[in-house]
Amino acid sequence: MGKPEVITPKHTAKDYKSAVKPVWCPGCGHFGVQSALFRALAYLDLPPQQVAVISGIGCSSRLPNYTACYGFHGVHGRALAVATGLKLARPELTVLTVGGDGDGFSIGGNHFLHACRRNVDMTYIVMDNEVYGMTKGQPSPTTPPDWDSKIAPGGTGINPFLPLAVALASGANFIARGYAGDPNDVARMLVEAIRHPGFSFVQVLSQCITYRPEEKEWKHSVHASPEEPATTMVAAAQRLVGEDSLTTGVLYKGERLSYTAHIHPVQRSLAEIEESFVL
Ligand code: SF4
Ligand code: MG
Repeated sequence: MGKPEVITPKHTAKDYKSAVKPVWCPGCGHFGVQSALFRALAYLDLPPQQVAVISGIGCSSRLPNYTACYGFHGVHGRALAVATGLKLARPELTVLTVGGDGDGFSIGGNHFLHACRRNVDMTYIVMDNEVYGMTKGQPSPTTPPDWDSKIAPGGTGINPFLPLAVALASGANFIARGYAGDPNDVARMLVEAIRHPGFSFVQVLSQCITYRPEEKEWKHSVHASPEEPATTMVAAAQRLVGEDSLTTGVLYKGERLSYTAHIHPVQRSLAEIEESFVL
């Protein structure tokens, strides 16, 4: 027997970086998520032109501008709808949706539920800083009830949205939580998430240094789950009961079949499409 073939990846993390410089605040967790994403894509050796990054609105939703992949910086909360259409029309693309907790769980909450339910083969990365960063610090769906701010003195008193539990109940086929301060760990999760068939959801705790400076303390309090990923919904639900919102790791790997379009994508030239819009 000869030596096993050594495969050298053709891509490195910098191949996915665009010339646009991020406008994120220094120390923002989103830098870590960007780094993790580029490492994952390089590891998977996916050419940038085979990857589409779709987003809504918010600080984290600026990410498509900073990649050399195809990108779509869209409408608030509607990124998953765009991504679903794209994946069904162009199944050969690796489709990633990125955004924040406000965009994904409030404005886009309805789309989140149904994207989990439909189980189209794509990956959704939510950079969760438990605040609306771009619009200057309003409480978001994942903000703790006692977080005191000018807009909600004394806190909202409302229990936070539980993204992993909602994803599990709604049918997501892969569910994980990472921490932006550990980009290697997030990169490993993203590799698994992208490879796993169906709808993969990865919540990344990504500190907003400007409006939630106390999130710097996450580096001392996040902790990895010692458990292996659950393979049944019941086992995953049991894990969720025993873990807190700072527990990282892959929670669930399901076996649902991905949804695929039952109609053939329409093959039309750009000129034909443009002609159909002429008044
Ligand atoms: Fe990041 Fe917060 Fe600055 Fe937005 S406001 S770029 S989330 S640190
Ligand atoms: Mg946010």
